[in-house]
Amino acid sequence: MKKIWHLLTILGIVLVSLGTLSGCSSVAKKDVLKADQESNRITWGVKADTRLFGLENIRTGKLEGFEIDLAKAMTKEILGPKGKATFVPVTSSTRVPLLKNGNIDAIMATMTITPEREKQVDFTKSYFDAVQSLLVKKGSPVKNIQDLNKAGEVILGVSGSNSVKNVAKYAPKAKVLQLSDYAQAMTALKSKQGNALTTDNGILYGMASENPGYEVVGGNFTKEPYGIAVNKNQEPFRNKLNWALERLEKNGTYNRLLLKWFGNVKGFNYQEMKR
Ligand code: GLU
Repeated sequence: MKKIWHLLTILGIVLVSLGTLSGCSSVAKKDVLKADQESNRITWGVKADTRLFGLENIRTGKLEGFEIDLAKAMTKEILGPKGKATFVPVTSSTRVPLLKNGNIDAIMATMTITPEREKQVDFTKSYFDAVQSLLVKKGSPVKNIQDLNKAGEVILGVSGSNSVKNVAKYAPKAKVLQLSDYAQAMTALKSKQGNALTTDNGILYGMASENPGYEVVGGNFTKEPYGIAVNKNQEPFRNKLNWALERLEKNGTYNRLLLKWFGNVKGFNYQEMKR
C-alpha cells in the first residue's frame, strides 16, 4: 500500500512539473508580435494609481496619462488605425510576474531600465528620462536624501520599485517603509507614517499637484530612464516597439503628448525632456 502511495505521489509531482513547464514554454514560444497582429490588439500593463502617467478616472473608469496616450499611439503605429490597446493595471511588484506569465504583452509603467531587471526581461530604448526625488510636507526640515540618512528617519516607498533599493544606497541609516502602491504611500505620508516619500520626480509632481501642502525636494540623486519591458526572446516585438517610438518622436506626437501631460507641471522642465 505504502509503495502505491509513493508511486502516486511521484506521478503527481511529475504531472504538475510537466504542466508548469508546458505552461511556461507556451508563453516563451509565443510570437507576441504575430499574435497581436492577428488579434489586432496589444495588451499593455500600465499603472492605474499614478497621476500624469497612468491613473484611473473615477468618474469614467478610464485610464488617463502620458503612458496611456503613448501606448495608444504606439498601438496604432504598429497595428494600423483600427488597432486596439487593452490595459491591465499593474503595480511595481506585479508588473514583471504578469508579463512573465503572459497576462500582458508589454509593460509601460514607470519602469526603470536596470541591469538587474534586464536579466529577467528585455527593454526598449528609454521613452522618458526620470530622476529620483523626495516628496515632503511643505516646511519640512528635510531638503535632500542626506538629511534622511539618520537613525529614526522613516522613508516611504513602494515595494518592487527601484526607488526603495536606491534608498539603501543613499540613506542606509534610514528605515524604509514599503507600501503596495503609490496611492497607499501618499496616504501613509499624509498620516505621518514617514518623513518623506521617495520615487521618481514625475510621479511626485503628479502627487504634489493634487496635494498642495506637499512639495518635491531633493534634486535628482539617481537617473531613472523608463523603458517598455517585454519578455525575453521577443526580438521582433521589441524591434517594432522601438521603431514605433522613433516614428512618434520624429513626427511630433511624442512632444505633443509630453506637452499635454507635463507642459503645465510646476518644476518640470518640458524643454529639457523634448525629443
Ligand atoms: N522608476 C522606478 C521603478 O521602476 C520607480 C517607479 C515605480 O515604482 O514604478 O521602480
